[in-house]
Amino acid sequence: MSSWPVFALPRSLIVLMGALFATAVALFATAGAFTPLRPGEAGVFFALVVCAGGSVEAMRRLGTPGVITRDLLGAWWFPTLLLLPPVYALLIPIPVYVLLQYRYFRAVVHRRVFNTVSTALCGFVSSFVFHWVLAGDPDRALSLPIEVAERTLVTGSGAILALLCCALFTVLNTTVVAVAVHLSAPETPWKRTFWDREAFTIDSAEVCVGLTVAIMTGLSMVLLLIALPPVMLLQRSLLYQQLQAAARTDPKTGLLNAAAWEADAAAEVARAHQSGDPVAVLIIDIDHFKSVNDTYGHLFGDHVLVGVATTLTHQLRPTDAVGRFGGEEFVVLLPGADTAEACRAAERLRVRVGHMVLKADDAGVSITVSIGVAVLGVHGNDIVGLLAAADLALYRAKGAGRNRVCLPITGRALRGRTGAVRAEPKRAVPGEIRRLGTPACEESG
Ligand code: GH3
Ligand code: MG
Ligand code: MG
Repeated sequence: MSSWPVFALPRSLIVLMGALFATAVALFATAGAFTPLRPGEAGVFFALVVCAGGSVEAMRRLGTPGVITRDLLGAWWFPTLLLLPPVYALLIPIPVYVLLQYRYFRAVVHRRVFNTVSTALCGFVSSFVFHWVLAGDPDRALSLPIEVAERTLVTGSGAILALLCCALFTVLNTTVVAVAVHLSAPETPWKRTFWDREAFTIDSAEVCVGLTVAIMTGLSMVLLLIALPPVMLLQRSLLYQQLQAAARTDPKTGLLNAAAWEADAAAEVARAHQSGDPVAVLIIDIDHFKSVNDTYGHLFGDHVLVGVATTLTHQLRPTDAVGRFGGEEFVVLLPGADTAEACRAAERLRVRVGHMVLKADDAGVSITVSIGVAVLGVHGNDIVGLLAAADLALYRAKGAGRNRVCLPITGRALRGRTGAVRAEPKRAVPGEIRRLGTPACEESG
């Protein structure tokens, strides 16, 4: 039993999960005792579970479930928590997440259980607040009949109250998940687990869809049949958008993958070529990475890759594009950077990565990187030329002893390790060769 993945989690996270689970069970026992079983309400609950099941089946047909992190299941949570007594909000995630686990994607079981419990508890709290306000008395909130909620939802003030309670659900659920993520990976910045513009748009749309479905269901259960197709279509477009994003991302580091980076960089270089703006490309390669893998194992090697990716991203501006080019090679596009600026940025990256200390078997491990720099109009005139030049410069950095930044040899055809050959300008900018501390941005003509 101690080999279950849940026991590998930090103790604080296990405690949180246990506390949430126990609270959900206790609430179910208490609220269940105060909630009368009415056939009409049980029928609405059943219909919403069937619709949610239909949504899961529709997700299944779209395939590639591993990359999907957002769904539109709130379209079914919200009507449940608004229309039905709060105990139903505790119940609905159970059949839906079981279906999700066995029909769609087998997530780690403790994670699925955590999501189920979090959705159940946040749904219960929001539902309780909504019914309390309607009943004007917390004692009646647990047993308020569906007809009261149905009548309220079609009034302006009732709809606004419902909207606020759905928003409460979203805020609570996001916070619980953010705390769990933070406990399991303390280095994750808080703002990454809360809303960016995209997540806010999706959450707002989910709340609006859920409220609309609730109002329609309240008017007549038959209207659920009319609500179902547009909800499925919206969900489909949401999944499609995530698939598109996943197709551009390197799954190990979260950076752009090689194809996406090259497409973005090619567009930016073409734009800069037209406008005459400077732009530079860096290729960054971890030194002796094979021996890191051989000494500490591949998993630690992966950890190093993520560390380097994070350091690079933190050190660069949002307008710079960072990608994982291959195994332990990264690429950076620096719009607006001339040779001096590119060398400065590369040197900063080299130093920062060199200062990283990663823990392996109680020992601190540091790595170094070699960086090749190429600048538009100086070392190449398009993205292919720039990559070939930066690759050659990287080759020089490796040859010169590693842990350094180099410019390419100029004044002759460049032959990178990729084999690309290009005629390049005859002269680089000698005045911009820099020695910054130890190894420097080195150039030869
Ligand atoms: P150099 O300083 O010349 O770059 O030496 P190096 O050992 O870094 O380069 P080499 O090309 O010999 O080895 C690269 C290593 O990167 C070999 C491969 O096992 C490792 N690698 C490639 N992709 C991954 C990955 O995704 N994860 C891990 N852990 N290792 C990887
Ligand atoms: Mg290497
Ligand atoms: Mg390499």
